[in-house]
Amino acid sequence: MEETNISKIRVQLTNRRERLRHAISHHGAPVQYITLLKEVDTALERIDNHTYGVCDVCHDPIEDDRLMVDPLICVCLDHLNEAQRRSLEEDLDLAHKIQKTMLPSKNLELDGWDFYYHYEPAGAVSGDYCDIISDGKSTYFLLGDVSGKGIAASMLMSHIHALFHSMIPLKLKVDRLVAQINRLMCESSPSSHYTTLLCIKAERDGKIEICNAGHLPLLVSKNSSLLKFDSTGMPLGLFCSADYTVSYSMLEKGDYFVLYSDGLTEATSNEEEYGVERLSKVISENDGLTSKELTEIILIDVYEFLSGSPKRDDLTIMVIKKR
Ligand SMILES: [Zn+2]
Repeated sequence: MEETNISKIRVQLTNRRERLRHAISHHGAPVQYITLLKEVDTALERIDNHTYGVCDVCHDPIEDDRLMVDPLICVCLDHLNEAQRRSLEEDLDLAHKIQKTMLPSKNLELDGWDFYYHYEPAGAVSGDYCDIISDGKSTYFLLGDVSGKGIAASMLMSHIHALFHSMIPLKLKVDRLVAQINRLMCESSPSSHYTTLLCIKAERDGKIEICNAGHLPLLVSKNSSLLKFDSTGMPLGLFCSADYTVSYSMLEKGDYFVLYSDGLTEATSNEEEYGVERLSKVISENDGLTSKELTEIILIDVYEFLSGSPKRDDLTIMVIKKR
């Protein structure tokens, strides 16, 4: 585990020790407090003698993201006892339910746009961020991919979700909005994690503003030809002072734009990646469909490509069509 994360855990544990001592001195000493205090002391001792984060059973490192969530755990995922396994399953199930509530409703009525999306976590929870937010006048389509997987990535994803929902009503310009959220993320999340993001602001008349922060290219099907909008900025959460630029396009009735995560284009079968080229071909060959139909055709194509090979990453696709 990184030194900075260990320092954070040390601060957290020292804090907890103080709280426990305070509680014990004020409310007597219930058994569970004493047990917890012992566990905290042991964890702090382990940090001091550099044995922190090692599984009691197999002596392999315990998963970092689990320690960040619960710094008192002493075994790796493979060596949980029955009760711990059950409680982990309950946590994951709850996290899955919470994450589902953060997805945009598929029945949203948008001014001038027809949309559909497919959101498929690799495990119980996803590190992909998929959102549609209106500021009353314009609509924002957001698709992000948090580095890493599992619970830690899903927690960061919910953080980004909250940031966009609180910042979009402020009606900043798109480059300012993304720069501001980048700054807030740099201040509040571990430097080991970052997020690639596509932020598209769409107007009723068909104008779109595109900010691509380290994400895969946005594909725009305009008058039946396909345009690519590559990344022009750093992923969020890496550099506080990063600048972002915005590109524009004007879409007419029937034009699309397609956002996706690397779970789509990096889906691998026989050591070959699905890739942006194949995706572009599917989009070009299937002009004139609804957003839902196009999403489904892309999914059928990627599953055909995988032909039974396991899908290893979170997969998200969002298709938006000008009405
Ligand atoms: Zn173990």
